[in-house]
Amino acid sequence: MSPTELHIKSNDLFAKKADKPFLIAGPCSAESRIQVLETGRAIAEKGDASIFRAGVWKPRTRPGSFEGIGEPALAWLQELKAETGMPVATEVANAHHVEACLENNIDYLWIGARTTVNPFYVQEIAEALRGVDIPVMVKNPLHPDIGLWMGALERFNKCGISQLMAIHRGFYSYEAAPYRNVPKWDLAIKLKRLMPELPIICDPSHIAGDAALISDLSQIALDLDMDGLMIETHCDPASALSDAKQQITPDTLHQLMNNLIMPKAIHESEDFNRQLNKMRSIIDRYDNELLHVIQKRMEMVAEIGKAKKENNIMTFQIERFFDILRTRKSTGLELGLSKEMVYELFELIHKHSINIQNKI
Ligand code: PEP
Ligand code: MN
Repeated sequence: MSPTELHIKSNDLFAKKADKPFLIAGPCSAESRIQVLETGRAIAEKGDASIFRAGVWKPRTRPGSFEGIGEPALAWLQELKAETGMPVATEVANAHHVEACLENNIDYLWIGARTTVNPFYVQEIAEALRGVDIPVMVKNPLHPDIGLWMGALERFNKCGISQLMAIHRGFYSYEAAPYRNVPKWDLAIKLKRLMPELPIICDPSHIAGDAALISDLSQIALDLDMDGLMIETHCDPASALSDAKQQITPDTLHQLMNNLIMPKAIHESEDFNRQLNKMRSIIDRYDNELLHVIQKRMEMVAEIGKAKKENNIMTFQIERFFDILRTRKSTGLELGLSKEMVYELFELIHKHSINIQNKI
């Protein structure tokens, strides 16, 4: 994937503050005027959030679930904004939604995970926004394809949207437990590398699917230099019409925000920095050793490749591959290493070993 230069205009609200994270809070869905006002007032009073969110059109997996109030709910968001001064955000999934939001002075739009997966939908929404420079936040697609995520951001940018933000909300997986959507921090970090001007926030609510996990996920996101958080907040989570298990009250949100520790990139203490550099130089040395060992392994791989060729033996042998994964995983386990890491590592090493032999 090649880096993309986006034409980004910075949005003051997105700017990073040293003392507290940028926060978007509000219910999964706008359910009633009272629910929007009650939740929004409590959030505004605590002063933790910069933007109020509420879904108006809800993309539900099965028909028959609560699919949102639709257009009439936009007036409730306006009322809340007039009363509290908090800008409001909602999800749009087609050109009609865009039109309704623009008519009702919605301040921020977000693109849901089920929309980011489809370039047709994204293009339609982007075209509907041509000439209107409203801030747009793009959630990652349902599955971990960074190309689709970047593609959506590029489509908006090409249509003149210059205030963009990405939201990491986790990815669908057959093995999601304990999370509803598995976080892929490496992908979020990769996006940061490929689109360095783009702010990226984390939506721990949709990653977690469970209110109890939100606090830890939020701290991890900050420790990984994410630019803020989007947290689903409801005045009465138990009675929520969508995503009830993952919503928290404005009070719980306030406590959570107070407990978060803002990490720093650099420490003031000379002593600490010296200590850190010393430890990093040890890591540098280990990495160097690692590369030398890999080089020796690949030399041996090439030698085996020649022997296989001379004796007309198949390059890829599935039993050998399984044997490598099994034995390395068990050694890794004895050494206290993560099973997943050892598995991925040897899958990669084996793939490149086979490439070397194929060239021979
Ligand atoms: C939401 O934010 O309520 C939502 C539907 O999110 P996602 O698109 O991440 O599932
Ligand atoms: Mn939700």
